[in-house]
Amino acid sequence: MPGYDLHTHSTYSDGVTTIEENVAAAAALGLEGIGITDHDTTAPFEVARDAAEAAGIEAVPGTEFSAEEEGISVHVLGYWVDPRNAPLATELDRLRNERTDRARRIVERFGELGIAITFARVRALAGDAPIGRPHIAAAVVESGAAADLREVFDRYLADGGPAYVEKHAVTPERAVELLVGAGGVAVLAHPGLYGDRSGAKGLPISVVERMVASGLVGIEAHHPDHTDEQRRHYEAVASRLGLLVTAGSDHHGRGAEDRLGRATTSRAQVEALRQRRIV
Ligand code: AMP
Ligand code: ZN
Ligand code: FE
Ligand code: FE
Repeated sequence: MPGYDLHTHSTYSDGVTTIEENVAAAAALGLEGIGITDHDTTAPFEVARDAAEAAGIEAVPGTEFSAEEEGISVHVLGYWVDPRNAPLATELDRLRNERTDRARRIVERFGELGIAITFARVRALAGDAPIGRPHIAAAVVESGAAADLREVFDRYLADGGPAYVEKHAVTPERAVELLVGAGGVAVLAHPGLYGDRSGAKGLPISVVERMVASGLVGIEAHHPDHTDEQRRHYEAVASRLGLLVTAGSDHHGRGAEDRLGRATTSRAQVEALRQRRIV
């Protein structure tokens, strides 16, 4: 399978597979490269570079930055950012701390709903990674209150659900500025999954336009959870706003949940993205 899967998670955030496993799986699928896009961290860059070098593929270092627009969480992918850039590193630190406080509040919410999980267990499941909702959902499944992560999200943890707590994150356009300011390129992740996740409410197009004004260069029109109609819609949005189109699997899981390679961006498109860096 040629091309790059430009959106993957690992144990450096809320994925269950390691960077080494992801890189090896990408090479085994015949991918030319893999985007390293753990939430709110640049920590896996060196490990990823070494693993990719050994496997003979390219690791595109990135992060999936958490932003927020009026209670809707918005994810901005930033590729080739400099991890030493102070404004970005400072904001990523703040976001990770905010995730810890938010996880405590979500654990309390579950308590109020009669589901006893502990923050200590959630922390242990996350290890050193920034805590994400999938870690908390895993603790709920362990407690026996739900059969699987899907059920936890559907009943409690999806945006707006009874156990959902917002992250107090920066605006989407500020996220773009920070990523571009750190030498990266910014791409709007899975535009069809905001609001109620069916995308029915969706992200107002005016928000995307503001992001473009701040330096957004791409949009992830192709994602396994997008319908064909959403793909066509966001391809049209891309051509109207002069954005590059990317594809990524948003791989987080293992076994039946393994998505690696389920959406790929051509090498030519990755090169076009690379050319949009302001260095
Ligand atoms: P967080 O960054 O803590 O808000 O968690 C975001 C992650 O939770 C996403 O990357 C998905 O893996 C997962 N997620 C969010 N909403 C849903 C949903 N409705 N169903 C399943 N997974 C979800
Ligand atoms: Zn995730
Ligand atoms: Fe995301
Ligand atoms: Fe993601």
